[in-house]
Amino acid sequence: MALFAVFGNPIAHSLSPQIHQAFARQHQTELTYQHRLVPLDGFINAIKDFTQEGGVGANITVPFKTEAYKLVEQLTERARAAQAVNTLFWQQGKLWGDNTDGEGLIRDITEHHHFELKQKRILLLGAGGAARGLILPLLQQQPLSLTIANRTFVRAQQLAELFDIEVKPVFQLQPDYDVIINATSSSLNNAPLPLASEIFKHAELAYDLMYGNQPTVFLQQAKKNGCSQTIDGLGMLVAQAAASYRLWHRFQPDIQPVIQQLRQKIAAV
Ligand code: NAP
Repeated sequence: MALFAVFGNPIAHSLSPQIHQAFARQHQTELTYQHRLVPLDGFINAIKDFTQEGGVGANITVPFKTEAYKLVEQLTERARAAQAVNTLFWQQGKLWGDNTDGEGLIRDITEHHHFELKQKRILLLGAGGAARGLILPLLQQQPLSLTIANRTFVRAQQLAELFDIEVKPVFQLQPDYDVIINATSSSLNNAPLPLASEIFKHAELAYDLMYGNQPTVFLQQAKKNGCSQTIDGLGMLVAQAAASYRLWHRFQPDIQPVIQQLRQKIAAV
């Protein structure tokens, strides 16, 4: 049976095996998809072992996306732009790296939630691995503007220069945005972002890459302060997995039923 895996540390919480098995059922095929816990200094060996075992494709998660970017022999355009890889595949004997996070976000917002990003003023919070992967796909949606802000200003400044977008210190943000995307890990610790409540006043959409059985602190902040629509990152998680699945199997999974199943499962926890 074709072998796939997700590599990370920690990894036991990952929903990727369940998501890929759900796609395989839609596709009426069988596959093995494993969790692989990798020691922090053991990523290259883990991928070598996986290759020798006949692994066909892999997902890479925290904290190895940059190491994967450096390891691969070929990069897709979006992985090169992101300087981070979340999907590995082998083609004509070469190890390739792709980054499907941005496609996942865009598909969730535009197809699943039918929200158009074209001509919107977008604020992206965060300058870590996830934010990097989102910038090129967001620009491809032709927003009116894309602004980045981050707790550590210099990291946002570096990304702004790389992609030629606007950067602002968090404390100087004005209520000028239609869409506010939280790509920080602040919600992991239930920490509210130090944002002025006014910035949500005219926002039509607040999106948090995090998800859980309750609205995240960021989404609560947004709703309380006037934002009309709030979405968490569960749909993005499923949609980025669907993009990896399509790459490996040449089959486009339907994300809707899988999001619904996971939503019910998470709510029951
Ligand atoms: P990362 O590389 O570690 O970056 C973390 C970012 O969050 C940095 O910009 C950091 O700012 C900021 N940050 C952390 N704690 C903060 C706080 N208390 N207040 C303000 N800013 C804070 O992580 P990542 O890989 O970019 O991931 C970010 C989040 O996205 C994670 O929660 C991850 O689970 C989620 N994610 C979700 C999906 C999905 O499919 N739904 C996909 C990828 C990632 P500094 O630069 O100042 O440290």
